[in-house]
Amino acid sequence: MAMPHILIVEDEEKIATLLKDYLEKSGYRASILDRGDSVMPFLKQHAPDLILLDIMLPGMDGMDVCREIRKFSGVPIIMVTARVEEIDRIIGLEIGADDYICKPFSPREVIARVRAVLRRLNPVRDEKTITAGGIELNEETRQVTAGGKDLNLTPNEFRLLKVIMAHPNRVFSRNELVNQVQGYDYEGYDRTIDSHIKNLRKKIASILPDAEVIGSIYGEGYKFNAD
Ligand code: CA
Repeated sequence: MAMPHILIVEDEEKIATLLKDYLEKSGYRASILDRGDSVMPFLKQHAPDLILLDIMLPGMDGMDVCREIRKFSGVPIIMVTARVEEIDRIIGLEIGADDYICKPFSPREVIARVRAVLRRLNPVRDEKTITAGGIELNEETRQVTAGGKDLNLTPNEFRLLKVIMAHPNRVFSRNELVNQVQGYDYEGYDRTIDSHIKNLRKKIASILPDAEVIGSIYGEGYKFNAD
């Protein structure tokens, strides 16, 4: 596997450089941005594996950056905060961050958190199959089976199922799924996702009639129900 790419968004140069050095020593590739409003343009060109996101940033507040990212991407985000009050905001607002770290921190602690989040969110990174809810998805053969029977998925259905199966119980908005399945700049309709989900459910139900593996959250999106 290639070195995971970590994006550091931090306006204090000393901290940013320290983090970058530690990440690189620990086997990661790291990029630094020093403004909140340069994150979205960066993400149009790059796909980092994790983002360390400071909250107090020039250009755009880290909270707003996080919300913007969540409109189209499930990339792991660790918020970095200097103030205890901000922790309540991070948790209370449910802005979609995966973890947070308080300043001052030890670089060692940051590395441990980065590792933990990557491990938690990408448990199948190096594996070829994902198994959940009685369904087995093989990334190499692109075959998905339930109870040993082939589901005969279309490429889009396969990509969609792969995204939600890789993150059981995480709710994905239609927007996020459109972008994950069709690519970032795809100008598609959210309805496309609804029809893919409908077909997926039908195909799964034809083999596992009692399994409710794909859940819908009203007004939010879809998730894969873990057993
Ligand atoms: Ca700052």
